[in-house]
Amino acid sequence: MTKGNINVSVENIFPLIKKFLYSDHEIFLRELISNATDATLKLKHLTSVGDAKVEYGNPIIEVKVDKKGKKLHIIDQGLGMTADEVEKYINEVAFSGAEEFLDKYKDSAKDTGIIGHFGLGFYSAFMVAEKVEIITKSYKDEPAAHWTCDGSPEFTLEPHDKTERGTEIILHIADDSKEFLEDSRISTLLKKYNKFMPIPIKFGTKEETLPLPEDAKKDAKPEKVTVDNIINNPNPAWTKQPTDLEDQDYKDFYRELYPMQFEEPLFHIHLNVDYPFNLTGILYFPKMTNDLNIQKDKIQLYQNQVFVTDNVEGIVPEFLTMLRGVIDSPDIPLNVSRSYLQADGAVKKISSYITRKVADKLKSLFTNNREDFEKKWDDIKIVIEYGMLSEEKFFEKADAFALYPTVDGKYYTYEELYNKIKANQTDKDDKLVILYAADKDAQHSYIEAAKAKGYEVLLMDSPIVSHLMQKLETSKENISFSRVDADHIDNLIKKEDTKISKLTVEQKTELDTLLKEVIPSEKFMVQLESMDSDAAPFMITQPEFMRRMKEMQQTGGGGMFGMGNMPEMYNLVVNTNSELVGEIMNTKTKKKQERLINQSLDLARLSQGLLKGEELTKFIKRSYEMIK
Ligand code: ADP
Ligand code: MG
Repeated sequence: MTKGNINVSVENIFPLIKKFLYSDHEIFLRELISNATDATLKLKHLTSVGDAKVEYGNPIIEVKVDKKGKKLHIIDQGLGMTADEVEKYINEVAFSGAEEFLDKYKDSAKDTGIIGHFGLGFYSAFMVAEKVEIITKSYKDEPAAHWTCDGSPEFTLEPHDKTERGTEIILHIADDSKEFLEDSRISTLLKKYNKFMPIPIKFGTKEETLPLPEDAKKDAKPEKVTVDNIINNPNPAWTKQPTDLEDQDYKDFYRELYPMQFEEPLFHIHLNVDYPFNLTGILYFPKMTNDLNIQKDKIQLYQNQVFVTDNVEGIVPEFLTMLRGVIDSPDIPLNVSRSYLQADGAVKKISSYITRKVADKLKSLFTNNREDFEKKWDDIKIVIEYGMLSEEKFFEKADAFALYPTVDGKYYTYEELYNKIKANQTDKDDKLVILYAADKDAQHSYIEAAKAKGYEVLLMDSPIVSHLMQKLETSKENISFSRVDADHIDNLIKKEDTKISKLTVEQKTELDTLLKEVIPSEKFMVQLESMDSDAAPFMITQPEFMRRMKEMQQTGGGGMFGMGNMPEMYNLVVNTNSELVGEIMNTKTKKKQERLINQSLDLARLSQGLLKGEELTKFIKRSYEMIK
C-alpha cells in the first residue's frame, strides 16, 4: 500500500472547497458523471483507432444510492486508470486543477454569475463527501487500484481485486449533505444536468409492460419485465444534422425539453457552426405574450451535452432570451463572471451569429410563405420589435420582414407601406405621415374619419410600439407617426382641403373668448378649425409627442428609456362650421351657453375615455335632466 501527501501548497483545501460554491454543491454529480462520460468516450475512440484491443460493447454509467451505508456510487465502464495514472491524474492533475481554480476565483465568489456553474472537477466530490474512494481497472493489462482520501491531503493507494474494466467512485456522504442520499434528489439532479449526455445513465430499475403478441388469448395478461431505468436521451435532436430531421422531430424534441408546455412552438431554428467557434443548438419561437419578463430563462445552455445553466444572459442577445431551446458550445468560457463574458470576443461573435441566423430564418419564412408568416406575426412581433430596438444589425435585416398591419388586417412591409401612402399622406412640410391606431375600439370614430379621407391606418398595439416608432422616425428619412386622434391629422386634412369658415373674424374672436371663459385652460388648448359641417363639433386630440412620451414613461424598458413626469394636456378642436357651434353663438343667456359648452366638452371627453368618476356621474345626471 502506498501512503502519501497530495502535493499542494494550500494546507487543506477541502474546507475551502466546501465553502466555496456554497449554493452549488449539487454540481459534484454533474462533474463525476462528466468524468465517467469522458472516460467512456475516450475508450470508444481508442478502440475505434485500434489502440485498445478490447471490446467496446454498449457501456453505460450507473448511479447507485446506498442510503444505509451513506454512500453514493458512480460506476462507469470506461477506460479506467492504472495505479500510476491515479497518482498522476488524481493526485497531481485534479488536485492542482482544484487549487488553481480556488486561487483564481475565491475573491470573485460573490459574483453570482456563471462562475457558480463552473465545476471544480473531480474534487468537487469533497463538497458533499467526508471520504472518497476510487476503485478503478484500466483497459490495459494491469491490476486494479484502490485510492482513498478522507478530506485531508493524505491519501492511500493499494491494489484491488476488481476485474471489470472501468471506474467506480464511492462517496461517503457527509452528515450535512444527507439530501444526496435521497433517490428523489438524485433523480432530479440527473434529469437537470444529465438529461442529454451521450452515454446512457442508469439509475435503478423500472417495470415495463410488454405488448401482447398478436395471437394472444383473450384473457392473456400482459407480461411485466424489470428493465434498467435510463434517465437520459444520449442522442438529442440538436446533435443531429438538420437534413436528418423532420418537422415532427423538432416538435417532439420541444416536448422533451418542456414537458409541461402544451402549446406547440411556432417554428424552430437549427444552429450549426464549427468555425470560427463551435456551436450547435435549436431555438424555438413560442407564442409570445406581451409581457417581456415572464418569458425569460427558458433557453438551456449545454457544453458537450452537459447542462450548464438556463441563464444565457450575455451569450444570447437580450431580445432573444424570450425564445426557447438549447445552445451547446464548448467555446463559451464559463469560469468567468458575466461582465467579463459580455466583453469576450468569442462570446460576442456567438451572439451576433445567433442574431444573424434568427434574422435569416425570419426572412426565409417570410419569403417562402408570406401568408403563414402574417398569421404568426402577432405572436412573434414582440421579439422582432424588441430586437429592432436593441440590435442595430437586426434592425437593418428586419426591414425585409417586419410587418405593419393595418386596422383592416392587411400587412405591409415598410417599403410597401411607403409606396402606398407616399402620394397622399404628407403634411404641409412634405413629411410622410403614417397614421396608426393603438386601440381599434377606443379610437373607432377617428379611424373611420381617417379612412373616409382615404388614409391607411396601421394598428400598432404592442407595448413597446412608441419606442419603435421613435426609432423608425430617426432612422428613416422624413417620416413621422401620428395616432389617428393626434393633432397632426388636422395638418394632413388641412393641406388637402382647407374649408371656408362660416364665421367672420369678429365672430371667431367672440367664440374664442366665450369658450375660454368656460373651459379650464390648464387642461385644454382651445383650437378653432373650419371643418366639414357634419364632422364632430368638439374633438379632443393630444399632441403626438406628448402622448408618446407618456407611453414611453410607462413602458420604461428597465429604465432604458426613462423620462421625467409629463403634465396631462389636450387640444380641444372646435369645428366652427358645425351647427351646434352656431347654436351656442346664437343662444341668448350666458347660463345656457355655458351649459351647452360643458355638455359638448363632456361628450368629447367621453368619446376619448377621459370622463370618469364624479364628473361622469354628474354628466349622466345632467343628461337625464335634459331629455326629461
Ligand atoms: P478534468 O475532467 O477537467 O480533466 P477532473 O478533476 O474532473 O478534471 O479529473 C481529473 C482527471 O482524472 C481526468 O482528466 C481523468 O484523467 C481522471 N479521471 C477522473 N475521473 C475518471 C474516470 N471516471 N475514469 C477515468 N479517469 C478519470
Ligand atoms: Mg472532469
